[in-house]
Amino acid sequence: MQYRKFGSLDWEVSALGFGAMRLPVLDGDSSKINEPEATAMIRLAIDSGVNYVDTAWGYHQERSEPFIGQVLKDGYREKVYLATKMPSWLVKEEVDFDRFLEAQLKRLDVDHLDVYLLHTLNARNWENYQKLGVFEWAEKKMAEGLFHHLGFSFHDEYSVFEKIVTGYDNWAMAQIQYNYIDIDYQAGQKGLRLAADRGLAVVVMEPLRGGQIAKTPPPEPVAETWAKSEKVWTPVAWALNWLWDQPEVSLVLSGMSAMAHVEENLTLAAESGVNRLTKADHQLVSQARNAYASLAPIPCTQCEYCLPCPSGVAIPRIFDVYNEAVSFDAWGNAGWRYNNVIKPEARADHCTECGECEAVCPQNIKIIEWLATVHERLAEPA
Ligand code: SF4
Ligand code: SF4
Repeated sequence: MQYRKFGSLDWEVSALGFGAMRLPVLDGDSSKINEPEATAMIRLAIDSGVNYVDTAWGYHQERSEPFIGQVLKDGYREKVYLATKMPSWLVKEEVDFDRFLEAQLKRLDVDHLDVYLLHTLNARNWENYQKLGVFEWAEKKMAEGLFHHLGFSFHDEYSVFEKIVTGYDNWAMAQIQYNYIDIDYQAGQKGLRLAADRGLAVVVMEPLRGGQIAKTPPPEPVAETWAKSEKVWTPVAWALNWLWDQPEVSLVLSGMSAMAHVEENLTLAAESGVNRLTKADHQLVSQARNAYASLAPIPCTQCEYCLPCPSGVAIPRIFDVYNEAVSFDAWGNAGWRYNNVIKPEARADHCTECGECEAVCPQNIKIIEWLATVHERLAEPA
């Protein structure tokens, strides 16, 4: 195992961390963790040098924390840095801070956490935490030894990330979604560098974009790109090695759901390092990113010239969801985003076909036709 710096702390963390959000389950039910299999996977990882375990209140329908508490018996707790997260969306008043922390320590059956994260910081949660005085509370709890460091995981735009990173001086770490596709998404590469410059450790989640860039074989144009290299790397190896190549990345969390994933990731982490990719490798990664983009059927550049639509239709977001479905063959995830993330009044069926958007779209996209197609493919039956 290779070890890396963790921001300004004197920790030496394993290049690979174990994320307890996609453990193997029984009957396809995320609340039923396949405990013998998951225990063997996590303990093998720790026995092979992984020293960071990440969980959260809500993972596996709240079964992840108690399960991790069990796995870390028999001396395993002492071998790892343990992180869990306060469920920000459930925090309504100040007393909730203690309520969740106490319950989580109990679920994990530990007397302290190494790092406690505010889960899913976005503009709304950030405002709520500030209003409720989370930092005064956190500093008291750190002084009492209930957790040693404070961090956050993030899901919003870069401008919000900047506000959060610069809005408190004692963050130990930030956890961001980052992979070779999403370099300009959410915090992105700019956020990675900002946080690292300010001494925060950066923990990467979704290194394989929820498995979308791990598929073997990858789509044809992507496979053709990798074939140009002398390196015989799997798609997973390309994705992880690209992350580990960057000194600002402290640790890559992988939500491994089968023993084979653990074994492959351990082998890769053992050989990982900073600045190991050549200039040619970096060019290939850019080409692979473009190859995925070329699979998108709607040539929308997200320029937003078509906004605001007089009927409130979220045109670029709808096209982004559909393009992702086609490019990554990820229809389930896209359907979920279309039906649950995009507000009902902003979906494609609210288009009145006024034509204002088509008149200004620099890509000359047949927006009205595409909106109808997307709605037909992604909308849940009424
Ligand atoms: S054609 Fe539809 S999507 Fe375009 S501006 Fe008019 S209502 Fe909005
Ligand atoms: S104007 Fe065209 S390219 Fe720009 S966001 Fe709207 S649909 Fe996409």
